[in-house]
Amino acid sequence: MSLSFDPDRLDLPRGHFIGGRYVPAAGVLPMHRPSDGVEFAACPVASADLVDQAIASAKAALAASGWATCAPRQRTRVLQRWADLMEEEAVRLAQLEAFCSTRPVGQLVAGDIAVTAEQIRFFAEFADKEGSDLVPTGADSLGMIMSEAYGVVGAITPWNVPLSMAGWKLGPALAAGNAVVLKPSELTPYSTLFIAELAVRAGVPAGIVNIVLGDGATTGTAITGHPDIAKVSFTGSTGAGAAIMENIARSGIRPVTLELGGKSPQVVFADADLDLAANAVATSILANAGQACVAGSRLIVEDRVAARVIETVLHRMRTVTAGPTWDEASTYSPIISDRQRGRIDAVVQQAIAAGAECLAGGGAIDHPGYFYAPTLLAGVTQDSTAVREEIFGPVLTVQTFSDEEEAMQLADHPVYGLAAGLFTRDLSRAMRLTRRLQAGTVWVNRYSRSRDHILPTGGYKRSGIGKDLGREAYLANRKTKSVLINL
Ligand code: NAD
Repeated sequence: MSLSFDPDRLDLPRGHFIGGRYVPAAGVLPMHRPSDGVEFAACPVASADLVDQAIASAKAALAASGWATCAPRQRTRVLQRWADLMEEEAVRLAQLEAFCSTRPVGQLVAGDIAVTAEQIRFFAEFADKEGSDLVPTGADSLGMIMSEAYGVVGAITPWNVPLSMAGWKLGPALAAGNAVVLKPSELTPYSTLFIAELAVRAGVPAGIVNIVLGDGATTGTAITGHPDIAKVSFTGSTGAGAAIMENIARSGIRPVTLELGGKSPQVVFADADLDLAANAVATSILANAGQACVAGSRLIVEDRVAARVIETVLHRMRTVTAGPTWDEASTYSPIISDRQRGRIDAVVQQAIAAGAECLAGGGAIDHPGYFYAPTLLAGVTQDSTAVREEIFGPVLTVQTFSDEEEAMQLADHPVYGLAAGLFTRDLSRAMRLTRRLQAGTVWVNRYSRSRDHILPTGGYKRSGIGKDLGREAYLANRKTKSVLINL
């Protein structure tokens, strides 16, 4: 069956999702389809009052449903059913995400949805396996570390992989026994609304998952500053992360997980499998047109093999298949908005004006919508804007080195430390340099996540605080109480 579809014939969920049902709301923020620029709807903006109602609904549901206190295996079963429903409804889910985001429908079904369902199952299994501990204390006492759900978690997600990001937040928070009020990006809310609907269908009590739509300034701020939000979990830009920390500090201190921006290096040594390395580098900057937090946007390659690696990357860049996200044959994504495409182009033009050599791309693709050509910039230095700033587009810079020390100097970034790639056949070097790289994830001879959801993800430096995925993400959604009993 073909996954291609007509974006004009989609029936969209309307309004917020609070207390287990859709709450209709007037649209405020104009929404455009990135694939053809058509304005198709407007996103509502939940006021502080509506956010308050959603949080009250979550609190009431926690009190009435026993979600946090039921036999934990009950949560496991319900969440597994939820994952099954995501797979059963994969086509509608993919359509709801594809038509207004940058994710091609084919990649959604084979990738994002399958992976998200599996991650939900992964987290569901923690519910009855991670718990309180008895700890060694003196013989006249009993020491315990008691683990409990937080209560209502406030979550905020970005537009670049909307469903995956919602899964990263909802999976561990729900398995750990919390209720959630989640605000998806105002550009891509529909797949998140639909999985909330599926959660209720799977048996998650109404009110445990609430989705409020809106922007950061009004709705996001109301969530992160609300006194009844017990924990905040955010994925987005470093700037918004800083604003959220400030709001939390002002409105009442509580724990926060921040998954923020990156400017990740991919370091290729001459002894690497050069085809493998060049293809991994290309795939990483072409996937989602570079709109990925872990995009390996800085190629740092040993000078004597630079020409060969660059040739392969250029070939991959010149042979992408740009097309609308609703066409199954499309593999190269548009940029999320005209504004973001303008931002990308401004950095590229500034780099060229400052002396960078543009080896590929350097402008929009002649196609309806917001496509930008894969771009390769050589002749850049550590202080070029194109090397320093997260561009969040299909722009790769290339720098060369002659020895390990120089490679590590170039790889280090003053602000970001989300991920790094190392390509070498020398195991000692791989281990030595893995220790030196200041990044929350290091991939060696690959540049992508696997389906090993046990590996946490998160940033060093200003790329974030705390982890998503892995056992860490589950534990971050539980608080602990130390108990000491005199016997
Ligand atoms: P963004 O920071 O502009 O917005 C992210 C979300 O935060 C949106 O829902 C937005 O409405 C909301 N928001 C913005 N300002 C807010 C505020 N002051 N208070 C509360 N909410 C606020 O980011 P974006 O453009 O949607 O996404 C791209 C960014 O996300 C990039 O920087 C990328 O690196 C980052 N990202 C990081 C990861 C990770 O795992 N580290 C994953 C995906 C994306």
